[in-house]
Amino acid sequence: MPKQSPVPDKLSKPFWDACNEGKLVMLTCTACNLMQYPPEATCRKCNSAEKLVWKEVSGWGKIHGYCTMYDCRIRLLQAEQPFNLASIALEEDPGVLMYANLPGTPVDEVPVGATVKVEFVTTPGNGQKVPEWRVTEPRWKAAKKAARPAARKR
Ligand SMILES: [Zn+2]
Repeated sequence: MPKQSPVPDKLSKPFWDACNEGKLVMLTCTACNLMQYPPEATCRKCNSAEKLVWKEVSGWGKIHGYCTMYDCRIRLLQAEQPFNLASIALEEDPGVLMYANLPGTPVDEVPVGATVKVEFVTTPGNGQKVPEWRVTEPRWKAAKKAARPAARKR
């Protein structure tokens, strides 16, 4: 579905630049290990500004919860209604929640708790890429398959 183009500001620019390179990064406090999204100028936990660094994360997560959107205020998205709006908990820090429309998952059939992997979608407004999430098999299964690529299909 078409998405709105975010307009990066000074604080969020490294996040959006990384998206354009196909990477997911989180502003991380090296003093207390907290990841925060959306980024803020200081750490939410210890208030440090100097200890914040951008860290690349794996792009794996789990579906935390969802709702089905029937009456969205964003005009660009109204043509796609109804659609899924899920919250995704990051593997590295389940306290970080990101939103997803879960392409490939039927409306209102969202498997809460399922594994998702990030992908990046180009937005029509300014070409900025944004993170989106897709339901996939659990990470250990994917790793097992990758380790045995010669396994024959039945
Ligand atoms: Zn901190």
